[in-house]
Amino acid sequence: QKRLLANYKGRPSVTKSGRKVNVYANIGSVSDVAYVQENDAEGIGLFRSEFLYLGKTALPDETEQFNTYRQVLQTMGGKKVIIRTLDIGADKNVDYLGLGKEDNPAMGYRAIRICLKQPDVFKTQLRALLRAAKYGNLAIMYPMIISVDEVLRIREIVAEVAAELKREQIPYAIPEQGIMIETPAAVMICEELAELVDFFSIGTNDLTQYTLAIDRQNEKLDEFYNPHHEAVLRMIQMTIDGAHKAGKWAGICGELGADTTLTERFVEMGIDELSVAPSMVLSVRSKICEMA
Ligand code: PEP
Ligand code: MG
Repeated sequence: QKRLLANYKGRPSVTKSGRKVNVYANIGSVSDVAYVQENDAEGIGLFRSEFLYLGKTALPDETEQFNTYRQVLQTMGGKKVIIRTLDIGADKNVDYLGLGKEDNPAMGYRAIRICLKQPDVFKTQLRALLRAAKYGNLAIMYPMIISVDEVLRIREIVAEVAAELKREQIPYAIPEQGIMIETPAAVMICEELAELVDFFSIGTNDLTQYTLAIDRQNEKLDEFYNPHHEAVLRMIQMTIDGAHKAGKWAGICGELGADTTLTERFVEMGIDELSVAPSMVLSVRSKICEMA
């Protein structure tokens, strides 16, 4: 089977009737880029930037981040690299941010909430990203969005960062920007959100957690954690429709995107991109290529 899948290397992910779906890969470190290339992903659909922050005693500075992002972009040539801004909190914690302990961390101070409350942390990352955007096909995406106001605030901060770089005569570019759809709130207002961003990427891990009110970390609840729940699947459809209505694209970067029993259904729903673990890229591509 492995040898058969290898036949799909170097081929586009297109159905027999000509529908193209981008099959990208999820990564969590620079060394993962080798697996992305080995498995011939068409891009990186989710680069979890947390690895730069975890297991450290202080925040990574702008230079360290810039060098890392640039390296990944250059290694990927002109292929799309979607870097997600810091998604820390909940299960991922660091001492130096002083986040403290919470009774309900999954519903707590995490991800974009931290970035908007501590804009210095956010701005350092954005400066590094805008500078790195000169070196490849970068897109930025923002996690855990629940409101239009958050997106407007992000846009203001990005504009401030760009103005600073310009003033300092540091080369930069403003890349494509999208948001993760991983809360039911974002799904319900996706038509408004779609007007403000370039794309949606559905985080089915958190979307399942928040839709079903089931802590994704709680092993006692494993049998109830069902991303195939009709509520989750309908939310995916709503999100795709909301994006398309505004002329934007929508993908899935949660684990469900790699579930090949659903690949046909996602394509029928109109999905534009599936971002999966590098080891799943060719399986998903083969499913797409076998479709009528
Ligand atoms: C998700 O929630 O589906 C997702 C891709 O983000 P993470 O798993 O990093 O929370
Ligand atoms: Mg998530």
